[in-house]
Amino acid sequence: MLPRRRFLLALLGALSLVLVGLAVSAAVRDTDPPQLYFEAQERLPAGEPLRLFVSADEPATFRLEYAGQVVEEVAQDVTFDVPVAPGVHPARVTATDGAGNASELTTVVTGVPALAPTLEAATLLRSGDPLGIRLSLHEAGTDAALRAQVADVLVTLGERVVPTRRVTDGADERLEALVATPLTVDPTTLGLRVVVTDEFGRVAELEREVVLEPLPVEVEQLRLSAATLAIVTPEARDLEAAVLAEAWARAEPEPLWSEPFRMPIGGVNTSGFGDARRYAQGGPVSFHNGLDLAAPMGTPVYATNAGRVLVSGHYPIKGGFVVLDHGGGVMSYYLHLSRLLVAEGQAVAGGELIGEVGSEGLSTGPHLHWEMRVHDQPSNPLAWVDRAFPGEAP
Ligand SMILES: [Zn+2]
Repeated sequence: MLPRRRFLLALLGALSLVLVGLAVSAAVRDTDPPQLYFEAQERLPAGEPLRLFVSADEPATFRLEYAGQVVEEVAQDVTFDVPVAPGVHPARVTATDGAGNASELTTVVTGVPALAPTLEAATLLRSGDPLGIRLSLHEAGTDAALRAQVADVLVTLGERVVPTRRVTDGADERLEALVATPLTVDPTTLGLRVVVTDEFGRVAELEREVVLEPLPVEVEQLRLSAATLAIVTPEARDLEAAVLAEAWARAEPEPLWSEPFRMPIGGVNTSGFGDARRYAQGGPVSFHNGLDLAAPMGTPVYATNAGRVLVSGHYPIKGGFVVLDHGGGVMSYYLHLSRLLVAEGQAVAGGELIGEVGSEGLSTGPHLHWEMRVHDQPSNPLAWVDRAFPGEAP
């Protein structure tokens, strides 16, 4: 029994020491304001909880004043979860202890509104026309600090993913995308879908229907001569495909043009873009990917717009062949030329002389076969003429 009593006495002694200690610290605390620790984000999505965490070294009455909102709470730790207001506002927290001592802290919170994207794109086109897509991200006049950063953009037309690029135009920020609508002989409606995710993971989605007027289809008997057929060998096809693949691999992502596109030859009849042929009844449809411009041999051919020469050479099927990269996913092709007046790697201005009309390669008479490619898909060249961006008023 004796050892146990001693233990109890020792315990009482220890307790009284603790109580004395508490009394001493209470006396000190009377003059000391609460020591505060806080965690706050400076940039937050508007409408989401503020998540301002404040901790004191003693229980206190916390009072938050933020964007016209006042919240009070008695605690030792508190998380203020009032909704974040759009705009830049100070959040002021005062902590008052039982003895009336107060501490204060202020943090400035930027409440970033969600993106308010608007979409500009034609919704009725002829099959094969280029489609220009413009997406403005913010409401006009949004202060730079309040613009949500774009973390991810996905633009799709039907099943096809369309590459986008960011354009800053003074204080205005937008996204642009170009796509060639498919060549088809069937009435087609494609979904244009834009999904933009901002820095906070908020998602804005826009959808449009793009109606394509189909191309007329003709049925024709195969009428290629033996000499013509002899030109189109697998080796010749492979060679030209490899040259083009290599050219596309060197494409400049940023546009090199700013002026409207123009006809490469003046005052000639044009025909044939998208001409759809079935060589046999019920057989597969093949499309004419370019525009044929009939002109006398030696007629000067001009660059449709500013760009860089990626290909300038003589090839079995395409004949005298020039490829201009206009940047931004746009290239122009000039086929069957008799003379080439530019060198690979050379920069050209819009309207600059690049070659002369001929009938080289797979051709039945002097003409220029002109193609406008968007991300390597054929598009109607006439839809580019007199416009700097498809869909713009000429
Ligand atoms: Zn042609």
